[in-house]
Amino acid sequence: HNDSFDYPVKPLDIDWTEDHFPGLEKGSVPTVLDIGCGFGGLTMALAPLLPSQIVLGMEIRAKVTEYVRLRIVAARKEQEGRYKNASVLRTNSMKFLPNFFGRSSLEKLFFCFPDPHFKRKNHPRRIVSERLLSEYAYVLKPSVGRLYCITDVKELHEWHVEKCERHPLFRRVEDEIAEIDPCVQAMKIETEESKKVARAGGEKYYAVFERISIDQAT
Ligand code: SAM
Repeated sequence: HNDSFDYPVKPLDIDWTEDHFPGLEKGSVPTVLDIGCGFGGLTMALAPLLPSQIVLGMEIRAKVTEYVRLRIVAARKEQEGRYKNASVLRTNSMKFLPNFFGRSSLEKLFFCFPDPHFKRKNHPRRIVSERLLSEYAYVLKPSVGRLYCITDVKELHEWHVEKCERHPLFRRVEDEIAEIDPCVQAMKIETEESKKVARAGGEKYYAVFERISIDQAT
C-alpha cells in the first residue's frame, strides 16, 4: 500500500460529477462515505436506501476499487436512473480526507469491519483514532452528522466506543435510537464482511455516534 496517490489540494478542486456522478447536477458532492468499502456491498445498498444522499465508497486496494467501479457501472446500466448517486474512489482515507471533503459537508461516515491491527505497536494504524476523529468531526455536519462502526472483534469495538466517547465532538447514539436507523440494519447485513461473519456464526458489535455541535459540547 505504499504507492503514491493523486489527491486534490483542496475540495473545490474536484469536479465530482465529471468522473463519479455524471448523472447528477453539476456541483454535487459526496455526503456519505463508506470508508474501506471493500467489495462495495454497503455502498450499493446505501445508494437506493438514501436516494437524496450521494454515496462514495473509499478503498485503498486498486483491484478491489476497480471491481466496485464495474459493479456500479453494471448496476446503472441494468436499472436506469438508479445508482447514479453511488461511486467509488481509490485512496488512502487515513491520509487525504480533508483534501477531498469540505468542512461540514458530510452526513454519514461508515467504518465497517475495519482491519483490527491487533498488536499494540500497530494501534496507530487503526482507522478510528483520536487524531482521525478530529478530521471526521471536521468533515461531518454538526448535529446531523453520524459516524457508524461495526466489527466482529470485541476489543476493537471497545476501542471504537472509548475513542469516540472520549472525543469532545462525538456522542454515542442510544441503542434504541440506533436500532431504528435503517443504515444500521444495512451495515449489519449488506457488507461482504458482515455476510462472512454471519455465515461463520460470529458476533457483530456496532456503535453509532453523532457529531455534536460546539454549543452542545460545552
Ligand atoms: N467494509 C468492507 C466490508 O465490511 O465488507 C470491507 C472490510 S475489509 C476487512 C477492510 C477494507 O479496508 C479492505 O478492503 C482494505 O483494503 C480497506 N482499507 C484498509 N485501510 C484503508 C485505508 N487507509 N484507506 C482506504 N481503505 C482502506
